[in-house]
Amino acid sequence: MEKTDVDRLRRLDREHMWYPWTPMDDWMANDQLVVERADGCWLIDPEGRRYLDGRSSMGMNLHGHGHPALVEALVAQARKAGETTLYRVSHPAAVELAARLANMAPPGLQRVFFAESGSTAVETALKAAYAYWVAKGEPERSTFVSMANGYHGETLGTISLRGVNNDQVDMIRKTYEPLLYPSLSFAQPDCYRCPVGMSSGGCELDCTDSLEEILVREKGKIAAVIVEPRVQALAGVITAPEGHLAKVAEIARRHGVLLIADEVLTGWGRTGTTFSCDAEGVTPDLLTVGKALTGGYLPLSATLATEEIFDAFRGGAFLSGSTYSGYALGAAVALASLDLYEKDDVLGRARALADVLTAELEPFRGLSHVGDVRQLGLIAGVELVADRENRTPFPPQDRVVERVCTLARDNGVLVNAVPGDVITMLPSPSMSHDDLRLLTGTLFRAIREVTGE
Ligand code: PMP
Repeated sequence: MEKTDVDRLRRLDREHMWYPWTPMDDWMANDQLVVERADGCWLIDPEGRRYLDGRSSMGMNLHGHGHPALVEALVAQARKAGETTLYRVSHPAAVELAARLANMAPPGLQRVFFAESGSTAVETALKAAYAYWVAKGEPERSTFVSMANGYHGETLGTISLRGVNNDQVDMIRKTYEPLLYPSLSFAQPDCYRCPVGMSSGGCELDCTDSLEEILVREKGKIAAVIVEPRVQALAGVITAPEGHLAKVAEIARRHGVLLIADEVLTGWGRTGTTFSCDAEGVTPDLLTVGKALTGGYLPLSATLATEEIFDAFRGGAFLSGSTYSGYALGAAVALASLDLYEKDDVLGRARALADVLTAELEPFRGLSHVGDVRQLGLIAGVELVADRENRTPFPPQDRVVERVCTLARDNGVLVNAVPGDVITMLPSPSMSHDDLRLLTGTLFRAIREVTGE
């Protein structure tokens, strides 16, 4: 791109764009990274500078950018039919994809309802769960229980789920508070700041007692428990101890409430199994997928349900859906992505890359301002602290984590910061081992430099 074109773009950006979650004054005061092209796991700006994408575009990118098989699938489907809508019409790609998802999912999840984003897939799951109880003659079961500090999307329905029973200021929820429905939350399985005060060892998953208590107290009023299975990424990569998910599932079953597993981020090998639920042999009643479903090429998501849930709607209809539900282009690209998932052994690659990541993260533990390093598969977080002994955070005005991310970016590597001073990495399984080492090495140096080590 010519310099004049870039300048024009920046001017139009300042005049017309409005970015998600972005303090716009800051944005407009600085020249921002513009990604014009991409190649594999690298993003390229108009001047030709290359940035290694350590966040795989928020966990979407599964096979790298510009994969010929995905481009071909997209073009081939566009030539046949771009969209058809699923309202009283069917098309082969959506049907094939539903069958494929049912085959790959934890056993028993046979029904697939399509949407476009992770948020709308979760919203669908919530509506399906409540409508299920209405159909069963228990409309008073209208309360959802989620894990404290969880993240399930941006619609009013999904932000209503965000737990507030911890210290973290939840700005999004606070802003929309009057518009939200009441929900309950139980303790997050945070082993660095254990909610039940265990120091090290001896964990018997006592943090799940708070779920049990809610289900006893609110007997007959709870529709479903919703969790991000085994890892809460946006909460700061809170990795649950082994057995936590199975215990939550067991408690939900025992109290006769539904379980929703939100696998929007964790699906497709990111945590070391195709779905995170697979690792603990859990079949939820409803399971959501999105993000990497199309390899990140198009927006498409799905809510999978058991036949038991589906059957409750047989006498009538599930009153939910949207124009683009299961559109043909998205479904065709998702099928091509799932073909690649198997053909290229993406799961095997994800596991091998996760092992490299584990080794690469080890030296971070020796840094005096790294409080904790957490990882599940290809989801990793490094928590920075002012004082390791007392686990105290840096003063917010120092913007330490933000400065680390900016320095890493200036050195050609993109990582994310999430509240709680955690730097997160979500590398694509398609990233080479050398590129991953470049990512962690650059981040390591950026942390040392910013924290003055
Ligand atoms: N659930 C989880 C667990 C997520 O991580 C996200 C996105 N980060 C969502 C839901 C929302 O997905 P989307 O941004 O596609 O609406």
